[in-house]
Amino acid sequence: MPVPPPVQPVFRFAPSPNGLLHLGHALSAIVNHDMAAAMGGRLLLRIEDLDRTRCRPEFEAAIFEDLAWLGLTWEQPVRRQSDHLDLYAAALERLRAMGLVYPSVMSRGEIKAAVAAAEASGEPWPRDPDGSPLYPGRERELSAREQEALIAGGRPHAWRLDVAKAVGRLAEPLTWQETGAGPAGRTGPIAAEPAVWGDVVLSRSDAPSSYHLSVVVDDALQGITHVVRGRDLYDATSIHRLLQRLLDLPEPLYHHHRLLLGPDGRKLSKSNGDTGIAAFRAAGRSAAELRAMVL
Ligand code: GLU
Repeated sequence: MPVPPPVQPVFRFAPSPNGLLHLGHALSAIVNHDMAAAMGGRLLLRIEDLDRTRCRPEFEAAIFEDLAWLGLTWEQPVRRQSDHLDLYAAALERLRAMGLVYPSVMSRGEIKAAVAAAEASGEPWPRDPDGSPLYPGRERELSAREQEALIAGGRPHAWRLDVAKAVGRLAEPLTWQETGAGPAGRTGPIAAEPAVWGDVVLSRSDAPSSYHLSVVVDDALQGITHVVRGRDLYDATSIHRLLQRLLDLPEPLYHHHRLLLGPDGRKLSKSNGDTGIAAFRAAGRSAAELRAMVL
């Protein structure tokens, strides 16, 4: 039998141009770059610019500038998610045809009020790993015809994945291979727990695709074999694995690296200007110093 050629590892760094990159992004980009170099792999850069209200061209330009200053190289052309909305729409359509998504019509305010009312009895309402309450609406229980009637006439709605129904369809347990360190520092097969997220949003009237949906579509399309990213996205991997299984997409390896924390002990954020790569550079410090500091 012919021996298949070895698969060349493909890594990606996938920032969102909604602010300046901080030192945590530098760590993530450097870890991706170094792992790709060590394994003879490729490094791709993907611009995750689906949030049209917060993403700006000047932040995208700053990403290129900061990464080049760090001495990193990546393949051209750079993929920009906003150029591929049709692909995410097709993936959503496929899940819809499988009867696994439903239109949800509660506004953020209505969700907040419903959760507050439920909690008035003293019982805490379940929250997802990011601290947001699970969706309290019951539209998933409506028939297909009732769901259609609900959104007829253009009522704003988000398409949500019926996670319990989707999990019920799985023939085999859902896991991922972790080579980094999750919260418990455990590598190896990790049992995915998508139900902890409740019925995640896959698209909204004002945002045609969610992060979860577009990230799995793009990782598959770009042939990503190694997803290397911060530990803040560790729990999201459960949803990504579920979507990959439902859409018949290949399973990459996952490596979640540690997060850099600010002086207040919280993870760095883009609004935290003084921990930016650009600010570090403007202070006259070198890329080698930055690398030594974050690694
Ligand atoms: N775009 C995401 C972010 O900037 C990262 C996505 C990923 O690595 O999966 O946080």
